Amino acid sequence: MIIVLAPNADTSAVTAALQGLGLWTRLLTGEEGPGLLEVEPHSSRVPHALIRSIAGVAAIREAKSAHPRVDAMPQTWSLPTRAGGVIELGRETVLIAGPCAVESQQQIRDSAKLVASAGARLLRGGAYKPRTSPYSFAGAGTPALQWLADAAAEHRLGVVTEAMSEMHVEAVAAFADIIQIGSRNMQNFALLGAVGRTGKAVLLKRGRGATVEEWLCAGEHLLVHGCPWLLFCERGVTGIGNETRNTLDLGAVALLHHALNLPVAVDPSHAAGRRDLVVPLALAGKAAGADVVLVEVHPEPARAKSDGPQALLPDQLLELGQKLDLDVTVPRAQDLPPYTSRYPEFYKKSVAERCRQLSTQLGLSPAAQRFLRTGTLDMAIADKMSENVVTTFALPMALGLNFRVNGRDYIVPMVVEEPSVVAAASNAARMVRATGGFRGDATASVMTAQVQFDNVPNVELGAKLIEERRDAIIAAANAAIPRMVARGGGCTDVDVRVLDREIGILVMHLYVDVGDAMGANVVDTVAEHVAPLVREWIGGDIGLRILSNTPLRRICHVECDVGSDFLGGERLADGIARASRFAELDPFRASTHNKGILNGIDAVAVALGQDWRAIEAGAHSYAGLGVDYRPLATWQRTDAGLHGTMELPLAIGTVGGSTQAHPGVRTAMEIIQTQSARELAVVMAAVGLASNLAALRALAGEGIQQGHMRLHARKADLAHGKRGDAA
Ligand code: PEP
Ligand code: MN
Repeated sequence: MIIVLAPNADTSAVTAALQGLGLWTRLLTGEEGPGLLEVEPHSSRVPHALIRSIAGVAAIREAKSAHPRVDAMPQTWSLPTRAGGVIELGRETVLIAGPCAVESQQQIRDSAKLVASAGARLLRGGAYKPRTSPYSFAGAGTPALQWLADAAAEHRLGVVTEAMSEMHVEAVAAFADIIQIGSRNMQNFALLGAVGRTGKAVLLKRGRGATVEEWLCAGEHLLVHGCPWLLFCERGVTGIGNETRNTLDLGAVALLHHALNLPVAVDPSHAAGRRDLVVPLALAGKAAGADVVLVEVHPEPARAKSDGPQALLPDQLLELGQKLDLDVTVPRAQDLPPYTSRYPEFYKKSVAERCRQLSTQLGLSPAAQRFLRTGTLDMAIADKMSENVVTTFALPMALGLNFRVNGRDYIVPMVVEEPSVVAAASNAARMVRATGGFRGDATASVMTAQVQFDNVPNVELGAKLIEERRDAIIAAANAAIPRMVARGGGCTDVDVRVLDREIGILVMHLYVDVGDAMGANVVDTVAEHVAPLVREWIGGDIGLRILSNTPLRRICHVECDVGSDFLGGERLADGIARASRFAELDPFRASTHNKGILNGIDAVAVALGQDWRAIEAGAHSYAGLGVDYRPLATWQRTDAGLHGTMELPLAIGTVGGSTQAHPGVRTAMEIIQTQSARELAVVMAAVGLASNLAALRALAGEGIQQGHMRLHARKADLAHGKRGDAA
C-alpha cells in the first residue's frame, strides 16, 4: 500500500500516527510530486477510513494483490462436520491428530479413540500417500476412506484426509470434512481447481520450497474455484541441515496470524521428522499464532507403515492435549460408567492419562478438567483469600483409591507433601475393602460456642439463671441465624460451668447444629448475639465469645475388619495389635500414633478446603480429655485378623467458607461426590483409620524406613535437579 502525502504534510507526524496504528512505513522520495510512504508488508491491517483521517494523508493507493480473495478471507470460521459437531476454527485451539496413513480398520479405530481422548476435534490419516520412493507403502486406497470416516464418527470427530490427484478428489470429498493438499502438490494447479470445485474446506500445506507469496497464491487458486474456506498449514521448509526433516518456519506462522490475519495451522510432525521434538514445536507453533495444531500419532509407532519415527506415542498425544489446554469430551451423564474407587495400576500411568481417565469416567466439568491440567489458582481469587498476597503455592493433589465406606465407593482427593501418605492409605483401603470396607457414622453437626463471663457477682446464681432460662437463650440464639434455622439447623442446647468462684468466671456453652457447614462463623455469630442478653441477667463483664475446637457433640466413629491373609499373615496382625496396645499404654507413642491418623485426614482436609488446624486441635484435645493422652484408633485381634475402631471430633463442612471459591476444592468435590458434611466426615475418618493401619503394618513388619526412604530418595533426586525415572 502506498500513502500519498498532502503537499504541506508533516512527514514524521504522519509516520508516527501510522506507526501508532501498527503500520510500518518507508519514505519513497521522488524528485518532484507528492511525498509517498510505502507500507511495509508485515504491518497490520487497518481500515482505510482510519488512515485517511490522519492529518497530512492525501490519498491511499492499494498495490494490486495477486490474491485478493485470500486477503479478504475471514480468520475465524465454523465448520459443521459430517459426524454432527461444529468446530469453531480460529476461536479455540483445535487439534487435528491421527496416523500418517490409514493402514487398517483396527489401526484407525484405535487411533480415533486415542485422538478423541486427547481432546482433538478432527481425525487425520491418508488413504493415498505421496511417498518419495516408489517402493514405499502408498496408502490402502479408497477402502481406507470408509474406515477413516467410520472411526471418526464413533467419536464425533471431523475428518481430514489428503487428495493426491484429481482422480481421487470425488472419493475424498465424499468422506472428508477438510480436504488436505499435501506439500508436494501445493502448486498442482489442476488438483487445486478440482478440489476447489468440490466446495469443501481445504487444509493447504505449504510447499517445502515455497515462499509465503506462492503459498497464498495457491490458496487463491482454491478460492477462485469455489473453495469456501481455507486453512494454511506450515509443515516445515527446506532447511540447511539434516538433524530435523525440515525447518519449521514459525516466522511464517506469526506472519499469517498476526500480520495477514489468516487462519493458520502448524504441523510439527513433518517439520521435525522425529517425535521427541513434536510437542515442543507444537507449543511453539501455538505461541506463534497457530489456530490449529496438526500432528501424527500412531497406536504402535514401531509398526507404522509410514512416518513412524515422527509419530507421537499415545501418552505424548495426551500430554500435548493437556499442554494445549484442550478439554476431553466426556460421555453424557447417563452413559458414564458406574462410580468406582478401584483404578488398578493407576500409579503406573502418566499424569495426563490419569487425568483423562478420571475426566471421562466421572464426567468432570470443563472447569475441573482445567484445574487438573493446570493446578493453578487464579491470582485474583488468591488475593481475596489472604492479606499481602504475592503469589500462590502448589502441592501435589493425588487420589486415595480403593475406599469403600458404608457400602459406597469414594475416590478421595488428597493434598500432602509427604510422599508415602497416599500410597499407604490406598493400600490399606484395598485390604479393608476385601472384608466389605469401612463402616461408620457421625453425630449431627453440632458445634460448640463458648461465652465467657467475668466478675459475675454471684456465679452460682448466674449459673442457675442460665439453666432456668435455657429456652429463652435458645430462642435468642436462633433469632440470630434465621437462615440456618430455615435449613433445619440451629441452637439445640445450652449449658454452663463455673470456672472460678473467687473472681466470678462463668462459661456458657451454646450447641448449634450447623448442618453441612463447618460452622465457625455461625456459632461465633450466635455467641456474640446471646452474650449481652445473658449479661443483663447475671451481671459482670462479657469475656470471649468464640467456638471451642473441642466439639464434643460432633463426633465421628469408624471401624473395620481386616483379614490376616490380606494383611500379610498372622504375625503382622499380632504385631499391629501389640503396637496399638503400646499406644494405649504410653502417651509418647500415642501422639505419634495419632499423627499417623492425621496424616491421612489432613491431606483430605487440605484438598477439600477444610480448616485442618481446627481438625488437629479437635483430634488432639479429644485424645487428651481423660487422665492420659490416648490413641484415637485402636486395633484388636479377632479370629480372622484385626478389628479397628476410631472416634474423634471432625468439624468439617461442604458449604460456605472462602476456600469453596478455590477451583481445586471444587474439583475435589466433583471427584469425591458428596454434599453431606456428615458423610464426608465419615469418609475422612476412614482415611485416617486406613493411614493408621498402613503405618502400624509397616512398623510391625519391615519397619517404615525402607519404603519411606525409597520415596524420599525420589523427592531428593528432584530437589537436586535429577528428573529421569524419578519424575
Ligand atoms: C501428511 O500429512 O502425511 C503429509 C504427507 O504431509 P506433507 O504433504 O506435509 O508432507
Ligand atoms: Mn506423514
